[in-house]
Amino acid sequence: MVRVIHGCIYCFARPTHSYLNLSPGLDFETRIIAKVNAAERLREALASPAYQPAPLVLGTATDAYQPIERKLRITRAVVEVLTEARHPFSVVTKSSGIERDLDLIVPMALKRQVSVYLSVTSLDPALSRILEPRAASPQRRLQTIKALAEAGVPVGVSVSPVIPFLNEPELERILEAAAEAGATKAFSIPLRLPWEVAPLFHDWLRLHQPDKAARIMARLRDMRGGKDNDPRFGTRFTGEGIWAELLQQRLRKASQRLGLGRERHQFDFSEFRPPSKLEGQQSLF
Ligand code: SF4
Repeated sequence: MVRVIHGCIYCFARPTHSYLNLSPGLDFETRIIAKVNAAERLREALASPAYQPAPLVLGTATDAYQPIERKLRITRAVVEVLTEARHPFSVVTKSSGIERDLDLIVPMALKRQVSVYLSVTSLDPALSRILEPRAASPQRRLQTIKALAEAGVPVGVSVSPVIPFLNEPELERILEAAAEAGATKAFSIPLRLPWEVAPLFHDWLRLHQPDKAARIMARLRDMRGGKDNDPRFGTRFTGEGIWAELLQQRLRKASQRLGLGRERHQFDFSEFRPPSKLEGQQSLF
């Protein structure tokens, strides 16, 4: 069966496939490893007497609303557990698939227990198609921001990754479009190229952006201490040096002008109650 899988060239989940003895290129884009028992494991963790509620984010390793989620419903089951436990959480996604779960998310939003970030990297559908094959179009992502905002869900935009000379000139325009759609928060992270992502990205540049490839890599290395990648904790999400600072300044200025907050949404943890140990049982509290 042909599966529809997002294939973002910059995806930092690709090296996980190497760890599993699969290729970070073709296998990543054709073979899905699904954590089918994620909801049960989450239920166990939250039901533990030792558990203390803390911020949870869905979608930081891979997108929680990949197309196959329509069939597997793993994320939906996870959100059901979080709803039962009244446990605050955030979602980062570039998929309109999250709209399916608005029936669970909206009541959580009204209690300050959820926030969503849509990842919008470009407003150019042609660039988006080659950079993020099979992901939702930019217009569709903006529609999702609008749908979430209109439903009362706090929604932000992640302009990540920013790639110099490619989508970087669009930074302000993306923030404007997201704010107009209803986003109230924004953040942005320069491109990271950990492990096998670097050679894959070099190949992609040679194929799709041969004229800009050298300039893009030179500027990235300027922001990454002279290397393709800088894994240091303090700088891996910001980069360093004058160009990284300039990007942050642009983000700050545009966010201020558009009323987009930079800080995280504040959650209410006071209503947390451990979920039942088995699905369908009554909670102990
Ligand atoms: S949507 Fe996210 S997880 Fe999926 S391929 Fe793109 S960057 Fe990776």
